Formats: sequence, structure tokens, C-alpha cells
Amino acid sequence: MAFPQFRRLPTEIRREIWRQCLPNRVVELDEPVGQLTALFPDDADYCCFSNHTAHINRQPPLISRVCVESRTVALEHVDLSPPATRTTLDFAFGTSMGPADWVDKRRDVLHLNYNDCYSAWYREGEGVFDLLVSEAEAKAQGASLTWAFYDNVTDVDEYLDTLRNRRLLVSLGVVTIHAPLQPALESGLFGLLGDARVVLVDANDTERLKQYQSFCEKHGLPPDTDPHPASFFNKYCQQGSRARVQDRTEDMRFSWLVNSWFLNKDRIDDPEGAWSGTPETIPERPEEQWWWQRWVPNREHPWMKDMLEAMPRIQPRIMVRLCTQRCPIEYPSARRARK
Ligand SMILES: [Zn+2]
Repeated sequence: MAFPQFRRLPTEIRREIWRQCLPNRVVELDEPVGQLTALFPDDADYCCFSNHTAHINRQPPLISRVCVESRTVALEHVDLSPPATRTTLDFAFGTSMGPADWVDKRRDVLHLNYNDCYSAWYREGEGVFDLLVSEAEAKAQGASLTWAFYDNVTDVDEYLDTLRNRRLLVSLGVVTIHAPLQPALESGLFGLLGDARVVLVDANDTERLKQYQSFCEKHGLPPDTDPHPASFFNKYCQQGSRARVQDRTEDMRFSWLVNSWFLNKDRIDDPEGAWSGTPETIPERPEEQWWWQRWVPNREHPWMKDMLEAMPRIQPRIMVRLCTQRCPIEYPSARRARK
């Protein structure tokens, strides 16, 4: 639809319209390899070669290509210089940030799809968590990681301080909707212009998740071809799912608290007094014992008071991806191989 009057609008209004069309994106530091993002039994049916989506999601947004004025606006908070830090992530995965990557400091979040097989290169994520935090601070408006990686990070003593007061988006699960671009554009669920193909939805926002669920039911591949989305949305949209999300979030916050206590207990005055309730036996290192409902903090204890104020600010998210390829049809053997 042509709108010739657009040029006659005052410059500031035109620029604001361009700004409103820019996507809020999740830029991935590493490629989420389909088979690897689904290492957990619940995700056995996950089938997507997500590299395609990750790549599109890192390209300059469409608005940056309309005209000189729109490109100037799109570049307002984008730094295209090479990253300050380079780690062996380049060597292992060949996918870390480069000059061609587009990250908007005001709108975008940096995400790491770390999973357990990285342990072959990095002990409990050492090195790559630093990369995520430093790059996110320099270039983006926030950092995001998977819950499995968060669990690894809280096992590393040096990171307990880094996590103090830190706001982190934590992805509890990943679902890919295999659907054509046109209905996705019309839905507005993947950016106004369809160039935000990876979105992080508030895991407590069941209504929003249901919008993706119904989009998937209407436009996605049928469940007999791609069964993962239906079971995934059932899990996160049903009654009681919010309580489970809240439990998981508390669990993550408490794993930081309990690990910090274990690390510092020789330096804390009256360390046992920091808890009003603990598991029956306190092991050397908590491992499975840090389920938060077993550890009741004593809010009057000075060390505990300070730590409760400094707990990581975890925002639980669900990663929803739009893949316009037909992975479960084109690569059905990948899905069968994991069964
Ligand atoms: Zn796919």
C-alpha cells in the first residue's frame, strides 16, 4: 500500500515511525544445532536444523534497507565494530560475534545456546559465560542463557559473584514452529516485519504462549509430522504450569544462594544460623540437595539478609522459533534416530 504523504511528515515523526518498525531480537552467540538443543527426554521429538533461523535473525533488520533515513535510524544503537573479546568459541563452533552481526543495544538480547557437550572444551562453561556477559554488556540490552547452562554456571565458584544482582533471561525450553512466512508476518508474533524469528516469551505469560500455540495449530506442520510443538505447548500452557515455572525459577535462585553459602561458610559468622531449615543431612557439596523448598533462609541473619537482596534477578522465558524450512519432513531420519 503506497503512502505518498509519508515524506511530508515532520522528520522526527518519520524517524519515530521507523523506530517503531524495528524488531526486538534474540541474537545467538552460537548456533543451536537441532539435535543438540533437544538432549532432554521431554524434547525427544524436537526436530529442527535451527542454524537457518539463527542466521536470518542476525541479519540487518528489513527497515535498515528501505532508505538512507531508515538506515540511519536503525543504526542509532548498533555498533558494527568487531567484538572486544575473542575466545576459543570461534575455534570450536565458528559462530561467535563478528563484524557482520547486527545487535541493537536498546532492543536486542544476546543468547547462548550452551549445552552439555561443550564441556569437552569448557569446564562448567568457564570462558563462554564471560564472553556472554561482556558482550551483552557492551552491545545488547541483556543476556540470556538456557537453564541447563545456568545450572553449570552456579557450579563455578568464580561466577557466584558475577551473578550477584545480575538480571538474566533464562530459557526453560525451546519450541520451533515450522510454518510459512506469510501467516507469521500477518500474526505479528515474530516482529512487525517477520524479522524477529527467535523470540523469548515470558514463561509466566500463559496467554501470550497460547497465541503461539494457536498460531502453530493453524499454520504449523500437523502433529503427526512434527509432534514436538503440541506436547511442548500442552506442558507450558496447561493449568499448573505457572506454579511449575515459579518453582523452577526459585530453584535457580536458591542454587546460587546455597552454593554461595557453601563457598563462604568458613568466613560467615554463625553459618548454620543463616538457615531456619535445611535438608536432614548437609552434604559436602549440595548437588541434588539444593531444591529450594528444603532450604529455609533465616531472614534475620546478617549474611543471609545481604544475600537475599543480591540474588540473581532471573526472568524465566520460553524460546519460540519460527522455521520456514520443513525440517521434520526433509530430515525425518534425524527425529527417528533419537527415538
Ligand atoms: Zn526447522
